[in-house]
Amino acid sequence: AKSDGRNHFAVYTAELSAEHDEHLAFEADMREAIRTGQFQLAYQPIYNPRSGSVTLVEALLRWEHPTRGHISPATFIPVAERTGLIRVLGAWTIETAARAALTWPRNVGVSVNVSARQFESDHDLVAVVAAILRRTGLQPRRLTLEITESTLIEDAPHIIDSLMRLRTMGVRIALDDFGTGYSSLSYLVKLPIDIIKIDKSFSHEIEVSRKVNALMAAITDLAHQLGLLIIVEGVETEPQLAAMRRFSLHGIQGFIFARPMWDDELLSIIKERVPS
Ligand code: C2E
Ligand code: CA
Ligand code: CA
Ligand code: CA
Repeated sequence: AKSDGRNHFAVYTAELSAEHDEHLAFEADMREAIRTGQFQLAYQPIYNPRSGSVTLVEALLRWEHPTRGHISPATFIPVAERTGLIRVLGAWTIETAARAALTWPRNVGVSVNVSARQFESDHDLVAVVAAILRRTGLQPRRLTLEITESTLIEDAPHIIDSLMRLRTMGVRIALDDFGTGYSSLSYLVKLPIDIIKIDKSFSHEIEVSRKVNALMAAITDLAHQLGLLIIVEGVETEPQLAAMRRFSLHGIQGFIFARPMWDDELLSIIKERVPS
């Protein structure tokens, strides 16, 4: 039994150290990728169903590795978060998105995802954003930062303070993936946010689930009373779109309109109108 235990331990440490080596290699790869410009941003338009035009565009990170090929953000974002590289990568993302937005019509804003680690007090995301706005000259109103509920749970007082400072600057805050984690309607009353992004699982169930319909009705009603904007994401089909259009929404995002695309394709799409 004793030697068994030792073996387990040996296997365990070998696995851990292999995993550790892999993380180090991945981290080194990411540093190299940032340095050599392997990261790019894809942009997905969000339509305003009232005007039938694009008023906001979400920036999404893409990594094309020279030998590993395409690596999904679902794979590299958690590693970037664990290693702290998300700070450099995140700042690059905000600045690149801001510069892209400057080439679009002035009524179109850009929305950038930010991770909890970018709010840690020794980083000062507020200063990073302020410096980017100053350098690029982008109107703060045209920048939206998307956070998730899990971000808010981590270090609430400090993060809420940062969000309030960002909003004072004129930057808008969106609560992403709403309806997944610990969503509670009382959050919407308390938090310094401007926009709620309803998770794509709602879009995927809206035609079939009475519960989801009831939730959508309740959330949109509350949002209007609180002066919050509502965006739904992940709308893929005509029936989903028709079901979602019954609610009073400020933005609809999903494959039905457009997939994430490169900046050079975006401009012609932004100018197209969809029937409202
Ligand atoms: P997210 O913020 O919820 O982004 C929406 C995801 O849904 C994107 O996946 C987008 O391509 C996908 N999507 C858009 N329309 C549809 C649709 O109609 N149907 C379906 N099924 N999916 C749709 P993507 O680009 O793979 O990003 C995955 C996640 O990675 C994002 O989820 C976000 O959490 C994270 N991420 C991406 N870029 C960044 C970034 O710059 N910073 C941070 N912190 N996270 C990022
Ligand atoms: Ca998002
Ligand atoms: Ca989302
Ligand atoms: Ca998500």
